[in-house]
Amino acid sequence: MGFLERAIRRGVSDAVGKAIGKAIEPTVTDLTNKAANAIDQAAQNTEQQVARSSGLEGAMANLERSVQGYATEAAKNMKVCPNCNKPTTADKKFCPECGTKLPEQTVAQGAVCLNCGKQNAIGTKFCQDCGTKLPAAIAEEQAQADRNAAVMAEWDEKLPQYPKWNCGGQLRYIECYEENTYSIGVEFKNNPQAAQRAVEQYRQILLQNGFRQAGQYPIIEQLFKRIDGVVYNVDTEHCFEGDPDFATIGFCIREPYGGFDYVKPEPKKKTSFMDLFK
Ligand SMILES: [Zn+2]
Ligand SMILES: [Zn+2]
Repeated sequence: MGFLERAIRRGVSDAVGKAIGKAIEPTVTDLTNKAANAIDQAAQNTEQQVARSSGLEGAMANLERSVQGYATEAAKNMKVCPNCNKPTTADKKFCPECGTKLPEQTVAQGAVCLNCGKQNAIGTKFCQDCGTKLPAAIAEEQAQADRNAAVMAEWDEKLPQYPKWNCGGQLRYIECYEENTYSIGVEFKNNPQAAQRAVEQYRQILLQNGFRQAGQYPIIEQLFKRIDGVVYNVDTEHCFEGDPDFATIGFCIREPYGGFDYVKPEPKKKTSFMDLFK
């Protein structure tokens, strides 16, 4: 596969991915042979146009238009896994990558209005003619609700000592690093302010549930609670180190520096310089 051909395939996947708001892999070949053949042709044409020096810019503009066309074409035979975002052909019922049940509709069908039948541009959420919510948007919401419910069920099992997250965003996962050490990931698409507010709100919920600052260097980003002799910690200090709109909150069992019951010692009487000579 030549450089240009790879670039076009990447372009088609990007165009579809952008429209439906997910990063998907460039596997257009598998999706429609028709689109794949057309892409080969387009790559050759562009190479010829460039070779004939009929202008690189013109050739690229043509290519850009073709890529949009192939993206729409590919979407007719494409399903995208709601769990791992892997694109696959329309005949599949389950994701070949992770086994998740695939949506009934292809990416293109997801943009067909159930009320008036209009084929909207892929990635559209509401019908451009009648305003009805489109199947892809409904499926997306359902998938999100299912994922939230799954994470909450895991929460009951793995994090019973901590108040539940109910501060908005989309719960992506609970991850276990080692025994009694977990993190949750909450996504706030392109909204870092909402992410900040939600984390602050969660700290308030923790405080209301008996968590508090503790240790020698107490800070609001590290809260602790002792239950039956065990000290539980919630870490929101490092929660935006990856992404400003993706909160990663840590949960573990550990004592704060200096100990949970650390009491600041009384300030010592100041020693004056002259005291040294007494
Ligand atoms: Zn999958
Ligand atoms: Zn409609």
